[in-house]
Amino acid sequence: MNRRRKIYEGKAKILFEGPEPGTLIQYFKDDATAGNGAKHEVIDGKGVLNNRISEFVFTKLNELGIPTHFIRRVNMREQLIKEVEIIPLEIIVRNVAAGSLAKRLGLEPGTRLPRSIIEFSYKDDALGDPMVSEEHITAFGWATPAELDDIMSLAVRVNDFLAGLFMGVGIQLVDFKIEVGRLFEGDLMRIVLADEISPDNCRLWDIKTRNKMDKDRFREDLGGLVESYREVAQRLGILVETDNALATGPRLVQ
Ligand code: UDP
Repeated sequence: MNRRRKIYEGKAKILFEGPEPGTLIQYFKDDATAGNGAKHEVIDGKGVLNNRISEFVFTKLNELGIPTHFIRRVNMREQLIKEVEIIPLEIIVRNVAAGSLAKRLGLEPGTRLPRSIIEFSYKDDALGDPMVSEEHITAFGWATPAELDDIMSLAVRVNDFLAGLFMGVGIQLVDFKIEVGRLFEGDLMRIVLADEISPDNCRLWDIKTRNKMDKDRFREDLGGLVESYREVAQRLGILVETDNALATGPRLVQ
């Protein structure tokens, strides 16, 4: 399929060498995993939808002046991105209790948090991405205190943008995970948003029905994952209905 040099293969994406130095191609797979890879399935069409949803979000963030690695989408499954030095953290922003936070603190899932909360995990599959504090991050040198400030203000800006974006289409942004990297431009280095933003790494609940429209459909064996992701894309205006939508499903807007 591809003769390009593979730089890295993760659970849901592959990175290939890009067309120019300092660029990469990010390829979205159909694979879904949960429980640190313990559960795995290939879900037809997921990669295409995540590519489109992530393109939509990153384009808007770039327009708002929130720096990201995203350059442009190149086809149904791939986007051209800037090469960054990934900081080995998962940055989780939470607005409503769910998932591991609800479990850890004995909160009823769906409880609104007193304010948005940022948590960090150290990206290490062998260790199961353990939760870490700012102290660990600076003591072990994963990021400097100044970088951590930048990371937290980036996370807050992304949360404000995403929460408003989704609320506008009847979806509650419960929580999400981002990854960031160092982008080197000449003598300058800045922290930019990397990876992807899609229903694979957000919790999205329909405001009216409370239905889950995210990867929890896979984690909790609820079924209908692609249909939910497609619904998210449709509400955001990324997909339009075809005339015979029932027969063929929605069509991707060019
Ligand atoms: N998340 C993610 N990748 C991970 C862990 C979490 O994208 O490896 C996202 C997850 O989809 C959710 C948020 O981060 O939107 C918070 O997840 P949580 O810590 O509650 O973990 P989970 O319950 O998914 O184990």
